[in-house]
Amino acid sequence: MDQLIKDIDIISGEEAQALDYKTTPEENTGKTKKIYIESYGCQMNFSDSEIVASIMKENGYDTTADFQQADVVFLNTCSIREKAEQTVRNRLNHFNAVKKNKPEMTIGVLGCMAERLKDKLLEEEKIVDVVVGPDAYRDLPNLVNAAEDGRKGVNTFLSREETYADIAPVRLNSNGVTAFISIMRGCDNMCSFCVVPFTRGRERSRDPHSIVAEARDLFERGYREVTLLGQNVDSYKWSPEENNKARLNKKEEEVSEVVNFANLLEMVAQVNPLLRVRFSTSHPKDITDEVLYTMKKYENICNYIHLPVQSGNSRVLELMNRTYDREWYLDRVKAIREILGEECGISSDMIAGFCTETEEEHQDTLTLMDIVKYDFSYMFYYSERPGTLAAKKYTDDIPLDVKKRRLNEIIEKQTQLSLERNKLDVGKEQIILIEGTSKKSEFELKGRNSANKVVIVPSEGLKIGDYVKVKIKDCTAATLFGEVLEINPALA
Ligand code: SAM
Ligand code: SF4
Repeated sequence: MDQLIKDIDIISGEEAQALDYKTTPEENTGKTKKIYIESYGCQMNFSDSEIVASIMKENGYDTTADFQQADVVFLNTCSIREKAEQTVRNRLNHFNAVKKNKPEMTIGVLGCMAERLKDKLLEEEKIVDVVVGPDAYRDLPNLVNAAEDGRKGVNTFLSREETYADIAPVRLNSNGVTAFISIMRGCDNMCSFCVVPFTRGRERSRDPHSIVAEARDLFERGYREVTLLGQNVDSYKWSPEENNKARLNKKEEEVSEVVNFANLLEMVAQVNPLLRVRFSTSHPKDITDEVLYTMKKYENICNYIHLPVQSGNSRVLELMNRTYDREWYLDRVKAIREILGEECGISSDMIAGFCTETEEEHQDTLTLMDIVKYDFSYMFYYSERPGTLAAKKYTDDIPLDVKKRRLNEIIEKQTQLSLERNKLDVGKEQIILIEGTSKKSEFELKGRNSANKVVIVPSEGLKIGDYVKVKIKDCTAATLFGEVLEINPALA
């Protein structure tokens, strides 16, 4: 359990990332200036920082891992829960002390918090020089130049078309084997609890040819796994004439060609059989059987789906405006099991204590978890966000201690289920891709199986980037342990 709980408020991998952060690595290509980026929140944000680094590199900056050395410091922020924003505010206080001794340093707040608070951020946080939303990163060099001349600036324009398709991301914190490719931006869903539609704008899909070119380039550079990223990947829809989802839906008859997510998945899978393909996140209302059959058709599309349910109760789901109910969700899980089998990994996001949720409705979440048997989940308690539909329409009426207790029950359930699911793997032979060294021992490496589970193996004779056939010998709720059977078996 300790492994799962970072903080009793909020749990698990994604939230841990919202509180922790990633920084830029040290790089010295002889450029005159240095930029330091701290990135918070979801994987989309880490991907965006790679675009920001690319834009700044083009404009004379090397990255640094030490903010004391930086001419420009960017915080790429998250607004999803209150705690994430508070973390950034605390961090700004910390930088304040540094800036006192180095007044020429430019400080920028980027991402969702910038978009949400706009120029209020400049008023509230005197240390901040530039505030830039997720669709305005091309303007960063201009804004930084202006800030260097003493002019603070804000650009939170939300675009209907921007996908940064032409910008080759600079891979930050890369293991050289796995990479994320952003395939779309924004979100047209209006889940009542969620701030994302307000901070990231309308849904746009990126040109599939640029996505395939990025995947091919990564493969040629030694990468062996790509994860296609978007808030709602199954809703991906692109045409040469229109990349904005809402507009494309209106003029579908007029366009020359439409590429949907199943088509895109197939195009990326065909780059090379040795390139694994993953994707995240799938919205239960959008995931189609066509996508599931495409996954089945290609061995290199991983057998894993992140399918956030949020709640197991239909009334709460309606209040959340998720546009599906418990039955619909369970029907999608049934389709996954029928088409992709029991071994397909399924994970979820859960919110405990949404407005008006009763004890019985909370129990529905626990029983749904028992039915689906998730391999793992990202679990949160509800945090009201200003401006969202829920903040406007409903009262955040579940006391904090009740939210926390319900969340704990969800975590306990998930821990049991993760162990139960992992035990099913013991004795099985699986192919894993080695991604890095194990945190616990220098004599062990960690890889992932197709279902996205971490497998620890002895390191002897192996290197990062190898495909390895293993036999699973043991497990905990969080990890599988394997014995190496064969290195780089024939996969193609
Ligand atoms: N687009 C993804 C989807 O619909 O599944 C989710 C994106 S969101 C960045 C990640 C998760 O944060 C959500 O699935 C939800 O569980 C959680 N989340 C979003 N808003 C929240 C809020 N106000 N309070 C608590 N958790 C929240
Ligand atoms: Fe937020 Fe819902 Fe969009 Fe996910 S699908 S980003 S939860 S509005």
